[in-house]
Amino acid sequence: MNSSRLRVLFVTSEAYPLVKTGGLGDVCYALPNALRQLDVDVRLLLPGYSEVLERLSLVEVHDSINVYPLLEPIRLLVGIMPGEITPVYVIDCPSLYQRDGGPYQDITGKDWDDNAVRFGVLSKIAALFGEHRFLFKPQIIHCNDWQTAITPAWLAFSDQAHAKTIMSVHNMAYQGIFEAETVGRIGLPPESFNMFGLEFYGKLSFLKAGIYYANQITTVSPNYAKDIQTPNYGCGLNTLLTERQYKLTGILNGIDSKVWNPETDIYLNRNYSVRNISAKVRNTQALRNKLNLANSKQVPLIGMITRLTEQKGIDLVIPIIPMLIKTGVQIAILGSGDKTLEMHLQRLEARYPKQVSVTIGYDEQLSHKIEAGANMFLMPSKFEPCGLNQMYSMSYGTIPIVRRTGGLADTVTDATPENIQNKIATGFIFERSNANELLHCIERAVKIFHNKEIWKQLQITGMTRDFSWQKSAKQYISLYHHSINTI
Ligand code: ADP
Repeated sequence: MNSSRLRVLFVTSEAYPLVKTGGLGDVCYALPNALRQLDVDVRLLLPGYSEVLERLSLVEVHDSINVYPLLEPIRLLVGIMPGEITPVYVIDCPSLYQRDGGPYQDITGKDWDDNAVRFGVLSKIAALFGEHRFLFKPQIIHCNDWQTAITPAWLAFSDQAHAKTIMSVHNMAYQGIFEAETVGRIGLPPESFNMFGLEFYGKLSFLKAGIYYANQITTVSPNYAKDIQTPNYGCGLNTLLTERQYKLTGILNGIDSKVWNPETDIYLNRNYSVRNISAKVRNTQALRNKLNLANSKQVPLIGMITRLTEQKGIDLVIPIIPMLIKTGVQIAILGSGDKTLEMHLQRLEARYPKQVSVTIGYDEQLSHKIEAGANMFLMPSKFEPCGLNQMYSMSYGTIPIVRRTGGLADTVTDATPENIQNKIATGFIFERSNANELLHCIERAVKIFHNKEIWKQLQITGMTRDFSWQKSAKQYISLYHHSINTI
């Protein structure tokens, strides 16, 4: 082992292309790659879901561990990320991770009953790495979201020399809250269970543990770092976050240009770049054909790819669809989640089959086709820690329409007359979470869509923005060094 290289264990419950349900999966692929390019020895630790074991290359057994007396012994495997060189450690424990359904929920959408143990084990093994129990001895354990967030608590109570911890919050709304008895069940020190620790109103909060005990806390955009210190967005942890302000940093996510690049994207009907934006139209035609939408060239096609949850503001979109159809737009939605929202959307598709397309499910390939084929992309989120699709959209010449919140506000520049004049506009922004405001904003975008010259300028400005991970990866490296050098 070259001891001068920074050693980081990146712990996560999902990482593309092994397993992905949302932005966390994309980030946990792209950021480690960017760090490796900057010569950091970063390795991943993931649960051994069936799809992870199927997709991982060159797997071998690394170690065998008994974490809990009642649990089968766990095999720690090591493999290589497909198409990359990043080593990935995988926790092989079939009774916890190999089942039909998603990483967090069963096929009916219900959280797995034993999530506290499933992710308690993930956090515990990360802590064992932190105590240097295995061959790879990281200086930093980089935890991502609640599923990994009790690692800092275990290390804070460890009597061994151990690694420093970074807690990255990708979404405050998911905290991993469980009954108090879970503390004993997963073997946390009883003295950690109080207000000045991991207790949250009589229950155990994984995320609070991470925020409370980590050496550094990050979130995925500068604006969201401010938002979460307020009662509206802090989900009950705003006061603690304000106290921890001195170690809270907002670092903007980037996008991986190997996966999201219209010039090389393998899923597109026609590749294009800022030098031949006109070729984008081939993707629009192909998308209309695929989704059985009317072939109306003069009408803008709006895309939306999203988890169907309250957060994403789909409830603002549903009531205005009839008005939008009258204004002259088409809409292509890809998403899954809340069953009532799915049903409302499917009804709208049945009512306007040539103008509205709704695909329920998770479809990586179609998501790329929508990014390339749509003219505009809708993200009317109630809150948005960073958001990746607005950045994918801008780099695909697809103009985002977003609410001014979190990372959306950090990344999109509104097409005000002044910004258009200064050639810095990249999208359309509305302020309040309100269907009327959204409707007006879309109408504003449609008007400009018909002005080909201004529209092309918006596309060029977005497509030439730098959304790469380079800058952000360097910020993480500074934070790693800062943590290592601070007692
Ligand atoms: P979040 O992490 O809150 O879901 P982000 O915008 O950060 O939102 O990231 C969402 C990621 O998940 C994007 O890569 C998006 O394309 C993808 N995604 C979301 N829903 C689907 C879906 N139904 N099918 C394919 N990809 C999806």
